[in-house]
Amino acid sequence: MLKDEKTLIVTAGSLLMLLIILIGALVNRGCRKHEAAEEALAPVVPPVVVIAEDPKHPARPIPPRFKRDTHMPNGGEGDTSGSINLGSFSAGRDLVFIDDDRVWWESDNDKDDDECDHSMHFSMETPFRRLIQLVTDRGGKLKVQDSFRVTGVHSSNSLHKEGRGLDVTCDELGLEMLARLCWAAGFDWVYYEASSRGGAHVHCSVKR
Ligand SMILES: [Zn+2]
Repeated sequence: MLKDEKTLIVTAGSLLMLLIILIGALVNRGCRKHEAAEEALAPVVPPVVVIAEDPKHPARPIPPRFKRDTHMPNGGEGDTSGSINLGSFSAGRDLVFIDDDRVWWESDNDKDDDECDHSMHFSMETPFRRLIQLVTDRGGKLKVQDSFRVTGVHSSNSLHKEGRGLDVTCDELGLEMLARLCWAAGFDWVYYEASSRGGAHVHCSVKR
């Protein structure tokens, strides 16, 4: 064999090897791309939260309207949810701690306050968990502005002092829709509070 022929064969062999390596790399890259695409397409599984049934707070149909500065039912809060009675209230016995990543909690974001918005009366739990689901299903993020609160902004006979009052807002859905969903969630008394002083919100309360 001539020297030139040998060189030609070696060069051709090298080129072939290079081609094989290149094809291998491309196929591999394609596979990884495909895997990444499959990962991106994989459905995000929402957390499964089992909402305990509460016969005293059944779910209701969503009302067609909920005007600002009105409440449901028509009667006053004391007549419906029962007035405050701190003598019969025990924080250790009556309050539950609720956490849920789908909710924005005011007390987690305002470090100057001393209250804990995760604490609320156990009678709140089923309607509250239902409300989270109703709001999340519609693409909103529920904001808890206030729940159990002993001191501060509320009046002396406020049900917040027993953890039976809850103030919520939702930027995405607006307050009228939120008030409608609060009623559907089963709270005993729902008030779309839009005072001229600002700080509009939906206040909900439950019977003891
Ligand atoms: Zn309130």
